[in-house]
Amino acid sequence: MRAALLRKPRPLTEDPLTIEGVPMPVPAPGEALLKVRACGVCRTDLHIAVGELPQKQETLIPGHQIVAEVVESPSADLPIGTRVGVSWIGGTDGTCPYCRTNRENLCDAPTFTGYTHNGGFAEYTTARTDFLLPLPPGLNDVLAAPLLCAGIIGFRSLRVAEVRPGQRVGLFGFGSSAQLMIRVLQAWDCRVYVSTRGASHQKIARDLGAEWVGEATDVPPDQLDSAITFAPAGDVVIAALRSIAKGGIVAINAIHLDRIPEFDYDTLLWEERQLRSVANMTRQDGRDFLSVAAEINLTPAVQTFRLDQVNQAMQAIAADKTDSSAVVLP
Ligand SMILES: [Zn+2]
Ligand SMILES: [Zn+2]
Repeated sequence: MRAALLRKPRPLTEDPLTIEGVPMPVPAPGEALLKVRACGVCRTDLHIAVGELPQKQETLIPGHQIVAEVVESPSADLPIGTRVGVSWIGGTDGTCPYCRTNRENLCDAPTFTGYTHNGGFAEYTTARTDFLLPLPPGLNDVLAAPLLCAGIIGFRSLRVAEVRPGQRVGLFGFGSSAQLMIRVLQAWDCRVYVSTRGASHQKIARDLGAEWVGEATDVPPDQLDSAITFAPAGDVVIAALRSIAKGGIVAINAIHLDRIPEFDYDTLLWEERQLRSVANMTRQDGRDFLSVAAEINLTPAVQTFRLDQVNQAMQAIAADKTDSSAVVLP
């Protein structure tokens, strides 16, 4: 089969992924063989490709927002031809203290799709059947792909920020994840304030009905109940902290952050303001979000790329050159 391989992380301008012919993957016990129909490109793929996340496999097929069809199944419960989603969390041990307390997103021994296990920038892949997500029938392959990481982790961020219906919520950064979450928040009657760089992201925020739109580190005119930061820059964390009211929560949705600048405790954290990170996802987050997405008819703006254009797709995301979610078609 054809696949996009990462052999050695290097800058995106040097096309870190190479398209090669490789042997078909063989499912391990408990895994299904899947024919990939579409695979979304996530910012985490960029961090992996350039080596900001440490390399875990000598050669890796990245990609962890996979819409696929089951072609070989270990169980009668999962018929051939079933359409499924595969996300970043590829498996957990089920036995560690975190798994046993309903926090499998923090598992001590997880596997990650497209990072510690080959992913979806390929014609075929394998995945644990107990980590496959059911896909709402109304959603086509291409539109479903960006929901599988950007969507699910964005949704988890709303939970970590303890967003309640009707609240004032800040979104710092307005890439694909935030563009999905504004629609969920609006369905919950929240008022959404967006701080983001780039005229095009600001325009999308206005078009999508944000209450107020500003620059990346601008503080909204009204005090917020909570805020979520999506930009991989610590400066926006400070801006988010400046924006929240007493008792407010800032949730950081970033697997990698340059640094958080020193800040003043007395004015930015005192009075029970909280700063939290968002790590990975649980299967329940995935199931809950996909059902919300189907309910509110959430359809992301998508730009498709061929498998041999996967480097261009990553470059477009890095340069904020695309206003939509990038999806690779094998
Ligand atoms: Zn991701
Ligand atoms: Zn565990």
